[in-house]
Amino acid sequence: MAFENKLNYLYQEVIFDHTKYPRHQKKLTHPSHEMQLLNPSCGDVIIVQLLIEDNIIQDIGFTGEGCSISMASASMMTEVLIGETLEKAEAIVNGFVEFVGGPEQTNSFAIPEDELQELLQDAALLEGVKQFPARYKCATLAWKAAELGWHPDEQERLIDGLTIANE
Ligand code: ZN
Repeated sequence: MAFENKLNYLYQEVIFDHTKYPRHQKKLTHPSHEMQLLNPSCGDVIIVQLLIEDNIIQDIGFTGEGCSISMASASMMTEVLIGETLEKAEAIVNGFVEFVGGPEQTNSFAIPEDELQELLQDAALLEGVKQFPARYKCATLAWKAAELGWHPDEQERLIDGLTIANE
């Protein structure tokens, strides 16, 4: 198998695994923050709930409906962000947005690319989305919903064509 085909195969497998067995697809009993975000270009809807205590993301749950990329990416996001401090989580979200082809983020401490790839775990495979700009919003929807959950004041920077539903 050629390298590109292998990579493509791995990408499909990982997306499939997260769509079939989504991680943390649940409602939280006592969320401290919540954000519902829509992607009008694809029709994806995501509700991200967070439990933040002592500046640390203790738990995340997501519900919603959408294409396989948006749902797989939400599942990946929960695995990456649970347990992180808000500062680190923000840097990871910003890094991910840039990683999949979004605008360069300048307001956070940047994470070096090697370290970012490691932190992103399965979500690092979504780098392939760069080739399909139409899917960029699908891939970033849940990540932006999470950050907007604890950072509603960052709407102008994060919103980027998405729609907030719980205002
Ligand atoms: Zn989508």
